Amino acid sequence: MATINNNYLKLKAGYLFPEIARRVNAFAAAHPDAKIIRLGIGDVTEPLPSACRDAMIQAIADMGNRDTFKGYGPEQGYAWLREKIAAHDFQARGCDVDASEIFISDGSKCDCGNILDIFGDDNAIAVTDPVYPVYVDTNVMAGHTGDTNERGEYGGLVYLPITADNNFTAEIPSQKVDLIYLCFPNNPTGATATKEHLKAWVDYARAHGSIIFFDTAYEAFITDPNLPHSIYEIEGARDCAIEFRSFSKNAGFTGTRCAFTVVPKKLTAKAADGSDVELWNLWNRRQSTKFNGVSYIVQRGAEAVYSEAGQVQVKELIGFYMENARIIREKLTAAGIAVYGGVNAPYVWVKTPNGLSSWDFFDKLLSSCNVVGTPGSGFGAAGEGYFRISAFNSRENVEEAMQRIADKFTV
Ligand code: PLP
Repeated sequence: MATINNNYLKLKAGYLFPEIARRVNAFAAAHPDAKIIRLGIGDVTEPLPSACRDAMIQAIADMGNRDTFKGYGPEQGYAWLREKIAAHDFQARGCDVDASEIFISDGSKCDCGNILDIFGDDNAIAVTDPVYPVYVDTNVMAGHTGDTNERGEYGGLVYLPITADNNFTAEIPSQKVDLIYLCFPNNPTGATATKEHLKAWVDYARAHGSIIFFDTAYEAFITDPNLPHSIYEIEGARDCAIEFRSFSKNAGFTGTRCAFTVVPKKLTAKAADGSDVELWNLWNRRQSTKFNGVSYIVQRGAEAVYSEAGQVQVKELIGFYMENARIIREKLTAAGIAVYGGVNAPYVWVKTPNGLSSWDFFDKLLSSCNVVGTPGSGFGAAGEGYFRISAFNSRENVEEAMQRIADKFTV
């Protein structure tokens, strides 16, 4: 008799987005004339930059010609893309990252989950609370946790609260943890990390032999020139960090799919016999075995992000969303609502007024303004009392939603 991976049974049913859909559908059925505006989604709305589209059209033409046709590519990605990433995203910022340390993939979501393949089952794992749920659920699937408690926290994980009280930056844990997930700019809080904060984590990780998983999917939204874009801007990070990046949010590749992970050569973790093993070798082996690369066409599209035209167009895209974020921040503040984030990130993290729970605020906003956001409690227990509003939307929708809040929302 075949058996299942029982760890899947520990997963809390994907509660957040189905519950949002259930409440929105019920409201829409009762108020068929309401024009509901959804500001809850983490997906981009604007079209792909023309530089990327043109490059992909050319790549399709290449595929139609015997001389330029491509079959299987390198599992790690084409050298021309890896070299552009290394030069532009890392070396230009003073980071010591070589093209060979960059692994192209079809998404940061899968890389964040797949990376667990090369780590042991006995690591102590730390996540922030609230958190991008993929970090938690992939550890549950891998059998690294117990069941949930009444707060929805999985046994065996170390939760590091990030709230207004600590400026949404986790305190360095007092106990030893082996794997640490950090996400800056942060989803869902929109918070960023200074170099000093990251340095404290790097020092901790080096002192304890821990590995930091640094997810910087929203790096392109950083506008403050003093903030680090990569953990490799911090001295010593090559000895303790793996970085995940994506073309999803900077160039609108959420549906096109391209991302990359940096695994420094010489970064090691312990084998059962106590020896140090290079993680680059394991990740290379894992990818070569379980992954056959991203399509040539998509990699050409991603390469175009680094062209002169691509750079201009990506900046325009980011600027568009960040103007949405500015409007959201300003209008909510004017309505007497406290907001965080949204300055170096596409997410505005709202403190629910009058002590409303995240779901009560959701219901109030839906019924009074027909505006949908994401309850903070869905990202973890410490997200209770907060609410995420996304800047990924049309200008028209953002302006109308904010006008409705200004006109109709009473605290
Ligand atoms: N990391 C974070 C923090 C995200 O919010 C997301 C998507 O919303 C991802 C990774 C996924 O990126 P990708 O589209 O490359 O899989």
